[in-house]
Amino acid sequence: MLASGSRGNCAVVASATTRILVDAGISCREIFKRIKSLAEDPQTLSAILITHEHSDHVSGLATLAKKLRIPIFMTGATHQAWSRAMRDENGERPQLEKLERFESGHSFQVGDIAVRPFTIPHDAADPVGFTFRVEGIKVGIATDLGYLPASVCDHLRGCDVLVMESNHDVEMLRGGPYPWSVKQRVMSRVGHLSNQSLADFFANGYDNSAAFVVLAHLSELNNHPEIARREAEKALALRGSLFRNRVLLAAQTEALAPIRL
Ligand SMILES: [Zn+2]
Ligand SMILES: [Zn+2]
Repeated sequence: MLASGSRGNCAVVASATTRILVDAGISCREIFKRIKSLAEDPQTLSAILITHEHSDHVSGLATLAKKLRIPIFMTGATHQAWSRAMRDENGERPQLEKLERFESGHSFQVGDIAVRPFTIPHDAADPVGFTFRVEGIKVGIATDLGYLPASVCDHLRGCDVLVMESNHDVEMLRGGPYPWSVKQRVMSRVGHLSNQSLADFFANGYDNSAAFVVLAHLSELNNHPEIARREAEKALALRGSLFRNRVLLAAQTEALAPIRL
């Protein structure tokens, strides 16, 4: 997890031979810096996958695409929304040299990694989460979603690493500084997942499969890492599974130490 939160999201999923960047929501410079801080080389990235067009997921994309010249995967609707919103200094829409369109629900391959995108409920053109399978390991990423429909829970079964949104504490959001319209948006069915909704998933819908659970996309104003951790651990402990699931927190300002399986 190179960065996670409302000021930018970016993660790497890698096998021995393939390295995928998931979202590019911090600057290209910062992405390079954080990859290097983990003693890795950004030039070895194989592809970039985009979940949706919100700026905290794409702000570094145009520059990164120009620098790396590797395939960029996104859905057609996400690409349209992204290019409508983007203009370079001459008012031109940026071109992606190696655009690869995928469709939600249809698996595709990047090197030896099998990628499955699935639809998530969020207020973007065509937002997706992903699962990745390689070498007998499954990784799931589901952030930016208003709630967890059964279809998403199904996709997340059997994951060894689960990256889940734990966006806000409901009480902190209600009493916090956001205008009411923004609070309503965040809390809506197409907004962001609360600590409490995630805890409900851990206590009820979750299959207890992950060795690592990563709490992601935490709000800096309406949440606190220790509150998010406590809610998640409490719910996992109810199932007697805290020992099995190590809870980690992805941060906004620095990369999380790599999870190696
Ligand atoms: Zn986001
Ligand atoms: Zn979003």
